[in-house]
Amino acid sequence: MRILIADDERVSRRMLHGLLTMWGYEVISVEDGNKALEELKKPDAPRVGLLDWVMPGQNGVEVCRAIRRDRPEPYTYLILLTTKDAKENVVEGLESGADDYLIKPWDPYELKARLRAGQRILQLEDRLVEARETMRFKATHDHLTGLANRGFIVDSLERELARTRRENGSTIVMLGDLDHFKSVNDTYGHPVGDEVLREVARRLLGAVRSYDLVGRYGGEEFLIVLPGCDADMAEKQAERMRAALANEPMSFNEESKLITCSFGATAWLPGMEPAEEALIRMADDALYRAKRQGRNRVVYLSASAPACPPPDDPVAVGQQESGEK
Ligand SMILES: [Mg+2]
Repeated sequence: MRILIADDERVSRRMLHGLLTMWGYEVISVEDGNKALEELKKPDAPRVGLLDWVMPGQNGVEVCRAIRRDRPEPYTYLILLTTKDAKENVVEGLESGADDYLIKPWDPYELKARLRAGQRILQLEDRLVEARETMRFKATHDHLTGLANRGFIVDSLERELARTRRENGSTIVMLGDLDHFKSVNDTYGHPVGDEVLREVARRLLGAVRSYDLVGRYGGEEFLIVLPGCDADMAEKQAERMRAALANEPMSFNEESKLITCSFGATAWLPGMEPAEEALIRMADDALYRAKRQGRNRVVYLSASAPACPPPDDPVAVGQQESGEK
């Protein structure tokens, strides 16, 4: 564990440095508050700070306040070193965000014990943060495929459209729906259907750029957001995803089966209202056309395209009613 010592008195700083090194800590020492703050704000900053109260630049209390304000995470355990033993000073120190304090001249055994207490607090803190992040991931991701879930992908689309609009760029919104997926479940059973969905997710993620967003929108339906793409790029990107599935059969139960996907795409372009619902509807309309045109294909519709006619095709209606897409 790394510890920062900030103390303007050379002798005190050296003594601390020597002891902490002997106890197995990795030590960084500085002689004023400004340098302390600089060290504690670095991305790989020490998790424990031993701060002298009175020192040049910002004093220990000011450093505590600044860290609590500017760097809430990961948590830094801060101990103030002070010769001030009046009660109001202690209260001020703790209220500034210090976790603990030691009155100078400090006792080495007490210092050691307090550092151990600090480490325990940090371990607890890290476990809490980890648990919170796990919960957050579970709340925003689909447990089967690990992709963003419906709520999260729609929220992400909303944020992406706001950003695209600010930057006057363009964004592609795409819906993909596996072809004849119901027959996979019916023929091979749901465990195989689940494995197919996981493999589809892996292939889709492998076919997009690192900053594209892929979410599970419904059972076998995927919502894909491609920031910074215009219509020409959209078709290429969608084609790459389609090919990632259509070019290689999937193997399960010692059989191999080609799983294909139909895609409907549309674009948000400069000047449009950032209405994610309308874009998803348009992508869905394009997807419907891709299904009607024979599946395993990409259909792009610009936002100004006329609405898709009602499903008057008896075959398409029959297929929809049976749940077969
Ligand atoms: Mg001092």
